[in-house]
Amino acid sequence: MSGSWEAVIGLEVHAQLLTRTKLFCACATSFGAPPNTHVCPTCLGLPGALPALNGEAVRMAVRTALSLGCTIKEESRFARKNYFYPDLPKGYQISQFDEPFSEGGFVEYEVEESGERAKDAPPVVKRARLTRIHMEEDAGKNLHDLGGGSVVDLNRAGTPLVEIVGEPDLRTPAEAAGYLRALRDVLVFLGVNDGNLEEGSFRCDANVSIRPAGSSALGTRVELKNINSFRFVEKALAGEIARQKDVVESGGRVVQETRGWDEKTSSTFSLRSKETAQDYRYFPEPDLPPLHLDDAFVATLRASLAETPRVKRERFVAELGLSPYAARVLTQHPRVASFFEEAATLGRDAVAVANFIQSEVLRDVTTRGVDASFPVTPGQLVEILKLVSQGKISGKQAKELYAKAKGTTASPAALVADLGMSQVSDPAAIEAACAKVVADNAKQAEQYRAGKTGLFGFFVGQVMKATKGSANPQLVNETLKRLLGG
Ligand code: ADP
Ligand code: MG
Ligand code: ZN
Repeated sequence: MSGSWEAVIGLEVHAQLLTRTKLFCACATSFGAPPNTHVCPTCLGLPGALPALNGEAVRMAVRTALSLGCTIKEESRFARKNYFYPDLPKGYQISQFDEPFSEGGFVEYEVEESGERAKDAPPVVKRARLTRIHMEEDAGKNLHDLGGGSVVDLNRAGTPLVEIVGEPDLRTPAEAAGYLRALRDVLVFLGVNDGNLEEGSFRCDANVSIRPAGSSALGTRVELKNINSFRFVEKALAGEIARQKDVVESGGRVVQETRGWDEKTSSTFSLRSKETAQDYRYFPEPDLPPLHLDDAFVATLRASLAETPRVKRERFVAELGLSPYAARVLTQHPRVASFFEEAATLGRDAVAVANFIQSEVLRDVTTRGVDASFPVTPGQLVEILKLVSQGKISGKQAKELYAKAKGTTASPAALVADLGMSQVSDPAAIEAACAKVVADNAKQAEQYRAGKTGLFGFFVGQVMKATKGSANPQLVNETLKRLLGG
């Protein structure tokens, strides 16, 4: 029976724009600052204080919309969304409602097929349409059970957000997670959002319904609120889809409501039903004029857009010869991607650069939002790889050299000299080392000659051990083959 249902999912994402100041006042945006230290008459909603729109927030919102293929409306408007809650001191939120600044657009995303897909297979790329993107201000934060009571922190009140509303084009929890990841990547690479789900600067409400497979009508939807990790999005959606199937298959009817996700019980629970839903009594914000975005302004922003992460990934594969897997790893963060690109430009072998970053450098990289810090510079990395390609040091020594260069400004070439590190490429020295290993392991040599060729690696390993990893591996291979008669 369960095979006969299809899920329909549409996501609403709220993303905090990385402006220095709030959307309608000059207060600094802040996270983790002492409570209520970034507030003023405007964001406190004091009588007589007027909002003034933040130009940088508008530029970031428009760049977001352009990157996602949206149409920019020349005229849009802000509205008051009225509701009464302690974290909203004005008694209303300023948001765009029926006249948003952008419409349409799409998210191109990759789906992780569970398990089976080979690591290096090209990704499955899908597209989901967007309904609209609009700007709005964030609310403050209520904190409960602090010293026995509830308190409010208004530092976040008035922080600029874009709300990105998706069409109900997604069909599985895995697609929803892929869509969210792709959307977050686009925003983080644009530098307009820090992509932090845990801190709530990128948050998602997931709408989900089920319908008989093959049907084109939409079922009654349930909204899952504020899910703060990609893993939870998938789990919460899967749990909710299963619940809806149970309801319908046992003769019930799904009711339109808002539900939360309980990680402990792995199930969703009701927060509020349609009947208790708010009437927001929207009306145009009288304190702000309509927003005009003229063609020249939009064209300038369009010209400033960089490659999206997905296009970057495709280029790394097509032009630089990386595997799809490596391309994905190196575009996990904008600063990692630019570190790789800088090193690949300085060096001659992009694949070698990519391999070294993946095997050594990445584990020492720390990221914080859109920032990242690296243990070496692209220049130092390229210098290390150059020493390898010139045959001056072995691959193993390159890793040791990297470990020495970490956190310093030293030139790797100078370090090689200081450390007395150099690869043994002298045929006589290698011949002597190989001959000794063959003589010391006469039994294995006999077995090898009798056809147990799998032992070859053993001999290479012994020579490398004896030379502390400094022997030129190609020379070792050739010499051993000759001595063993392979
Ligand atoms: P609201 O503003 O009340 O949240 P909308 O009608 O604008 O409601 O829809 C919001 C989101 O719900 C959109 O992302 C949309 O794709 C999704 N959605 C709408 N109808 C359905 C449905 N029947 N099943 C799943 N998702 C839906
Ligand atoms: Mg909604
Ligand atoms: Zn303020």
